[in-house]
Amino acid sequence: MPLTPLLADSAKQKLVTLDLEGVLAPEIWLAVADRFELDDMRMTTRDDPDYRKLMMQRIGVLTRHDIRFSQIVEVVSGLVPLPGAVAFLDRLRCQVPVVVLSDTFEQLAAPIFASLGQPVTLCHRLCIEDDRIVDIMLRHEDPKRAAVQAFQSLNYEVIAVGDSYNDLSMLEAAEIGCLIHPPDSLRGTHPHLGLVEDLSELATWLGLTTETWADDEGAQPALNSRP
Ligand SMILES: [Mg+2]
Repeated sequence: MPLTPLLADSAKQKLVTLDLEGVLAPEIWLAVADRFELDDMRMTTRDDPDYRKLMMQRIGVLTRHDIRFSQIVEVVSGLVPLPGAVAFLDRLRCQVPVVVLSDTFEQLAAPIFASLGQPVTLCHRLCIEDDRIVDIMLRHEDPKRAAVQAFQSLNYEVIAVGDSYNDLSMLEAAEIGCLIHPPDSLRGTHPHLGLVEDLSELATWLGLTTETWADDEGAQPALNSRP
């Protein structure tokens, strides 16, 4: 399968980094908020760029409502990838190394990793005691940027895609960055980045068109806009 023009347009090998929530999968904490009717848990990284503060607020809400970790995993197990995400990821991984860089937690998002076909994913870890989330172990304070820089040190040229504030350092560090369906407050603020609205547009932006994108039967997989 030939490389798409974007992936083949320089002497350097390319590597693509993708955010998880809001790009390939739904927002986990919004699903938890919906399931347990937690109006005080509706902030995401799209609203607050301070991730540690946001997570400590979430743990506080879970504690107040006495929600156990196993109950949260049950919610996550019911989530499905965003429309077209599995096909998109499968096709992209045929073209180029793909690494998912996420601020989620390995124990929490395991069901999502499985439904996406176990892409290589770098994320954080939760501290769990007696079936309760008690703290977070952030692997690195700026893990997405550090990962991009590490890949660049291996002589890869990085194409990064994300939807929110916690992706900006990754998008800025990459040779090519693209926002997908960002919040209104991010629109127009980073004009040097690409901007697409859904995975279908992202596939086109990456050059995954008919020849590289058709499924095994030659048909276009369904790549509808976000739900
Ligand atoms: Mg996101």
